[in-house]
Amino acid sequence: MGEPSSRRGARVPDRLGMGGLTDAHGRAVRYLRISVTDRCDLRCRYCMSEEMTFLPRSELLALEEIAIIAERFVARGVTKIRLSGGEPLVRRDVGDLVDRLGRHVGRGLDELTMTTNGTRLAEHAGRLHAAGIRRVNVSLDSLDPAVFRHVTRHGDLARVLRGVFAARDAGLRVKINTVALRGLNEHEIPDILAWTAANGFDLSLIETMPLGAVDEERIDRFLPLTEVFETLSAGFALARDDHRSGGPARYWSVGDGGTRLGLITPLTADFCGGCNRVRLTTEGKLYLCLGHDDQVDLKAALRDGGIAGLDAAIDRGLSIKPARHDFRIVAGDAPAVARHMSVTGG
Ligand code: SAM
Ligand code: SF4
Repeated sequence: MGEPSSRRGARVPDRLGMGGLTDAHGRAVRYLRISVTDRCDLRCRYCMSEEMTFLPRSELLALEEIAIIAERFVARGVTKIRLSGGEPLVRRDVGDLVDRLGRHVGRGLDELTMTTNGTRLAEHAGRLHAAGIRRVNVSLDSLDPAVFRHVTRHGDLARVLRGVFAARDAGLRVKINTVALRGLNEHEIPDILAWTAANGFDLSLIETMPLGAVDEERIDRFLPLTEVFETLSAGFALARDDHRSGGPARYWSVGDGGTRLGLITPLTADFCGGCNRVRLTTEGKLYLCLGHDDQVDLKAALRDGGIAGLDAAIDRGLSIKPARHDFRIVAGDAPAVARHMSVTGG
């Protein structure tokens, strides 16, 4: 990782005594998601438009700056970091960031994880594991090569599957993320659950969220998970699992094979009361909620004020964290938030 310029030259101090992270609603923030790039090698239809515009490279945080900000969050009580994007594995040198943050696992950080589309996972799985990552989420919306190619606009299912099994072979626990899409994968979801259970993976099903302009009407693809759950309950022995991640998912165990099914239901269930997370974009903005535009500029704070400036900006951010999102999907409406999921890392 390159050295920062003197203006960017803030260092993580040894002292870790700064106040913890609690928002104005009394929620302790323990989880940081980082979008290490907004770029991606796929163009999933619910996520991006085909002609997506990405941030200019000059606006992006240096990897060193991402590391400094992440380490500051760890110093202030964050125990879990997820690297996401865009596609995190398309950022050159992301491995250096993983190596650096991995050193905090067991030393303040309980867990470092990644969400990836899997296209480059086969090459990276060993290094991720060596750096201290133990779990990855891999997005996979279909096991049918033609449907997969359609949803991602040009993705190669076989390549992603190679990544998924390479991750498992490297010792990483794999969770598959599947966005439930009316008319695209709805009939396949039981097969996807059976496949994850047979291979020792977990599965999280996600309702499509109204984030950013895409080329389709979202309402046409919106599939409530209440409906999917009814279908799955008829074919699988599902038992409520009390596991909580402080996030939007509710969990069920599938049969007795150890597979966990998560349902991420931003549209059909309220989960904001226990929210423990904030999100850093690749241009250094800290978003306090996926469903709102409230943010603080950590890049400017760090470059202008060093660690003290960064701490003050983080505190400012915590003080404006919204109580809840108010997502809804209405035909013809503009998206609730103009920002795409790829900017804030899911
Ligand atoms: N490229 C990586 C991947 O696809 O896993 C990481 C970034 S992607 C934005 C993170 C997750 O967000 C993926 O599981 C993806 O399916 C999901 N996602 C993207 N846009 C979404 C949307 N509008 N609604 C719901 N989930 C979305
Ligand atoms: Fe890329 Fe992930 Fe968005 Fe698909 S969901 S376009 S893989 S960032």
